[in-house]
Amino acid sequence: MSVAVEGPPPLVYSPRSLAEALALFVPNPQAQLFAGGTAWHTEHLTTSIMLPPVTLSLHLAEDLRRITYGERSLDLGGTLSLNQLLSVGGPWVPSILKEAARVIGTSALRNLATLAGNVCQKGILGDLFPALHLLGAQFEIRNLRGSRWLTTQQVAEEGRVALAPGEILTRVRIPQEDWPQTFYQKIGNIRTPWDERLAMMGLARPKNGQLEALRLSFHLPHSGLIRIQSLEAELAGQRLPLPHRVRSQAQERVDEALNQLPVPASIFQRDRVLHMMRWILTRLDDD
Ligand SMILES: Cc1cc2nc3c(=O)[nH]c(=O)nc-3n(C[C@H](O)[C@H](O)[C@H](O)COP(=O)(O)OP(=O)(O)OC[C@H]3O[C@@H](n4cnc5c(N)ncnc54)[C@H](O)[C@@H]3O)c2cc1C
Repeated sequence: MSVAVEGPPPLVYSPRSLAEALALFVPNPQAQLFAGGTAWHTEHLTTSIMLPPVTLSLHLAEDLRRITYGERSLDLGGTLSLNQLLSVGGPWVPSILKEAARVIGTSALRNLATLAGNVCQKGILGDLFPALHLLGAQFEIRNLRGSRWLTTQQVAEEGRVALAPGEILTRVRIPQEDWPQTFYQKIGNIRTPWDERLAMMGLARPKNGQLEALRLSFHLPHSGLIRIQSLEAELAGQRLPLPHRVRSQAQERVDEALNQLPVPASIFQRDRVLHMMRWILTRLDDD
């Protein structure tokens, strides 16, 4: 990757803490954040990184890399790299998040790529987002004046993490909940044509022969995210295995949701989504 320089040389600051980074926004309100830098050339559609006049590189801000283990939630610092996330031992990081992180790029890329960089990509929701949405995560956003929390539901509705100049995504808070069954499948990667890419994920909690809770989503980059919370609520409490009628109705609801995507799904994506939906409903029967 080369760095193209035109006009006056761009300024790159490397603040050593969040406070320093926020303070740098005062004289540089339009400064751009740079975390791992692995999404920059796709965002700018060039093979070289076009640095803006002022860049804040977050790689030295150690306090943005912290992990806090709470009783009811886990807080992950925004600049944790994907490999750091993957190296957290024990049951703390939900397996669905690790599965989504493990299939992003190569290991070398995952050394650089960060959690916040993945969800803050311009124009596209990164692959970690649907998993965070199922987990009911929240994003802490800070600026010099204070902080606010953004729910993944708000982000899903807006289709992006909408940040004002001077704001930094500092932490991702994940509620600690027990999800004995996790489903994750991703087809294609960044080099695959968009109409052949998709990811499916699900969390299920069967208990005493019943489906206590189920969360499901399908992510079609460029077309949108399908999550039908009313269907999840209807399926919760059903006896397992799910009756044939209930499964067919669930398939129909997903089919309808596919028809409502802002950018229509390709025949391939539609076929795979419906196949994966059938697969999950069958796997639920196993327990
Ligand atoms: C070969 C290759 C394969 C890839 N494969 C995948 C893939 O499979 N799935 C996928 O989702 N992505 C993929 N990507 C895109 C990208 O690498 C990842 O999404 C990565 O997680 C981005 O993180 P980063 O730290 O490098 O972000 P950066 O490139 O540093 O930043 C991305 C955006 O987020 C903003 N940003 C960064 N940190 C913050 C913060 N703390 N607060 C607010 N805004 C912030 C930046 O200003 C920028 O607009 C791939 C990229 C390459 C080159």
